[in-house]
Amino acid sequence: MDATPIVIARKLQEAGATIWVETDAAGGCRQFRLDPSDAADFLADPRAWTARQWGVTAAQLDEWDVNEHMPRCGCRTKAGQRCGNRLAGDVDPPQFVDLHGQACRVHG
Ligand SMILES: [Zn+2]
Repeated sequence: MDATPIVIARKLQEAGATIWVETDAAGGCRQFRLDPSDAADFLADPRAWTARQWGVTAAQLDEWDVNEHMPRCGCRTKAGQRCGNRLAGDVDPPQFVDLHGQACRVHG
């Protein structure tokens, strides 16, 4: 990738602008500041960049989305189905990663 996005981002910053990336979060949204030095990384893979801001992987961020931000029990029921009981309400990706797949009260 050429350096143009970085140059533009630096010029914006020098002119007094701050670039924020808005992303889904528990209970609404959150903004991460995009440093001009991150411009090329962000454009190459916005999803992976956002995951890094949360301190999780892109796959973990996808899993968080698929589960509607709610960590679920990873145990199996007697019938062999995945339990899936909620372990918490709407949480941010790092809390989701910590809790998802743990045992609920029934299985703990
Ligand atoms: Zn369970």
